[in-house]
Amino acid sequence: MVIEDVSVPGPARAGNVIVRPEAVGICGSDFHLFSGDVGALSGPRDFYPRIQGHEVSAIVEDPGDAGVNEGERVAIWPLLPCGSCYPCRAGRPNVCPRFRLVGVHLDGGLQQRLKVPASTVFGVGDLDPDSTAFVEPASIAVHALARGGLEPGEQAVVFGAGPIGLATTLAAAAAGARVTTIDPVPARRDLAKQLGAERVTWGSPADTQAEISHWTNGDGPPLVVETSGETAVLPQAIDLTSAAGRVVVVGMSSGTAPVRPGVFPEKEIDVIGSSCATAGDFQAAINLVQANRASLAALFSHHFPLARTAEAFEFAMNRSPDAIKIVVTVN
Ligand SMILES: [Zn+2]
Ligand SMILES: [Zn+2]
Repeated sequence: MVIEDVSVPGPARAGNVIVRPEAVGICGSDFHLFSGDVGALSGPRDFYPRIQGHEVSAIVEDPGDAGVNEGERVAIWPLLPCGSCYPCRAGRPNVCPRFRLVGVHLDGGLQQRLKVPASTVFGVGDLDPDSTAFVEPASIAVHALARGGLEPGEQAVVFGAGPIGLATTLAAAAAGARVTTIDPVPARRDLAKQLGAERVTWGSPADTQAEISHWTNGDGPPLVVETSGETAVLPQAIDLTSAAGRVVVVGMSSGTAPVRPGVFPEKEIDVIGSSCATAGDFQAAINLVQANRASLAALFSHHFPLARTAEAFEFAMNRSPDAIKIVVTVN
């Protein structure tokens, strides 16, 4: 990773906006791309060289005809779908096999000026830059719960209390669910509590099963959301969930885990994948972050200036337990 001069993008022509990035969140998927692990991103693509950064808070410099105002703070919904494939036609552009993501397939927010399509910019009102950069990961959580059909009052288990698991905990609790969040790191469990988890726990699969079974009067939870990316969690989640329940898989991994197919007809559970977010999820995430900005502030554990981005990545990739969300400040 190097810092170098690039050309300033020209004036915003039809359909584009020029923004000045202010804060960019660093995320697990950034490490995969940085390390050359692009297996989860289908199709032959040109990924490198690339200016990364897909969790972006920015100020509008040249609004073009985007319907936002100069000087307005925006969050970037990084998804550019093809518009014509089956998932796009079905209203699910977030799994378009030809989508391009700002910061992944296109240059992203780790630069002082960024030109993006008008469809990607969402005004955030008076939200601060760190919180605005968190809208994108929050939208992943909103989408996962929409996929899982979360109902108010339901008991839900969230595996993992990294940024996505914490955002899922917050979004589920804010929607009126009763949440247990499972993570090995005590500081992350504390954050899950602060964000609305009724319970937090960590233990062996057998102990966890017994504890959650007790919490749900023997049924198991109707909804389990896996955000950790640990391959061993999927069979555990399938065992844990109630018959007739749903398991949503958000965590990405390239590993495999053994699953006994007979469990599906026996319990008639739905196992549901969840990827990225739609524009509607993104707007819902803005509302979620606006309503919970005070409690979310505890997640922004470390800040690095743009000139020290390589150091920020190194720090984040070493998985320091006290690192939750690392933010690069730009401009
Ligand atoms: Zn991300
Ligand atoms: Zn498409």
